[in-house]
Amino acid sequence: DVAILRVGHRPERDQRVTTHVGLAARALGARGMYLAANDSGVVKSIRDVADRWGGDFFAEDKVAWRRCIEDWKAGGGIVVHLTMYGLRMTDVIGEVRKAEKVLVVVGAEKVPGDIYGMADYNVSVTTQPHSEISSLALFLDHLFEGSELNREYPDAAIRIEPSGLGKKTVEK
Ligand code: SAM
Repeated sequence: DVAILRVGHRPERDQRVTTHVGLAARALGARGMYLAANDSGVVKSIRDVADRWGGDFFAEDKVAWRRCIEDWKAGGGIVVHLTMYGLRMTDVIGEVRKAEKVLVVVGAEKVPGDIYGMADYNVSVTTQPHSEISSLALFLDHLFEGSELNREYPDAAIRIEPSGLGKKTVEK
């Protein structure tokens, strides 16, 4: 069970990136996203995609990040904070994979300093500055060892029929 906690979201400028964090998380095998901000628009666009394209991905806003982390740990999960300053992903991913429940924390601008201490692992994807979307995507891919790439989405109203040319979809 893998969920994302998105912190530092600023509704006036991060809507697109946060929506993409949610869509990437869903497409790459996570179960849902907690958003530590008040932004029902972002939640709605992610839910619209999830409703149409299947699966049981959840999106929730107005989440208190500290509470979310504490509750996750109390439920037996571990917390991975993605930060360029962390340990190399390739050095810790094997250990992280042993956990049954993983909460992946990603920031927008500067994340609250306490998160570094509350996380079980601070993990860097490349040790270069880049983006929460790319670091999350690579982290999930390594966590699931590529098995997420050909996942099925039950109850989908629409699915893609892979095609070498053009656009083929099947509606239910
Ligand atoms: N300047 C911010 C800081 O000091 O942490 C980072 C801003 S970055 C655009 C936004 C988010 O992307 C970070 O909070 C982190 O979650 C993620 N991120 C960026 N580069 C990363 C990397 N190399 N490894 C892991 N996560 C990264």
